[in-house]
Amino acid sequence: MPVKNKSKTRKTSKINKYMEQPLGLGLVNERGFPEPLFANCFKCHQDFSIKYNPAIGMYTQKNYWLYWVDDKWNPKKMSRKPESERGDKLCDDCLKEFYLKEKKEFLNQVKDKSKRQTLRSYIYHSVI
Ligand SMILES: [Zn+2]
Repeated sequence: MPVKNKSKTRKTSKINKYMEQPLGLGLVNERGFPEPLFANCFKCHQDFSIKYNPAIGMYTQKNYWLYWVDDKWNPKKMSRKPESERGDKLCDDCLKEFYLKEKKEFLNQVKDKSKRQTLRSYIYHSVI
């Protein structure tokens, strides 16, 4: 009986976390989620932090350049890889600037239409 209860609780809390956390938006860490990750932007070489997204079990994907350019990017798979194997990180400012100021080059590299749409929506809603 106690074992059964335990697993039920774990499942429920996982669902709750998902529902409380809109995908891709800024996320809190006071409930025991990992602290933001400090990374260095491969474009401007500034340090910046990447928030943890409990809904996908890893840091928010938009700051990983591979997320935008790799059509095989899979958050579940990526969340199991060490940070060093997740590729270059890009800060919000550079991501936005890349799209707004070098759009041709950006579209050349980011082929996925739904990801382009995601980025447009991030910019439109001032997420970045
Ligand atoms: Zn940058």
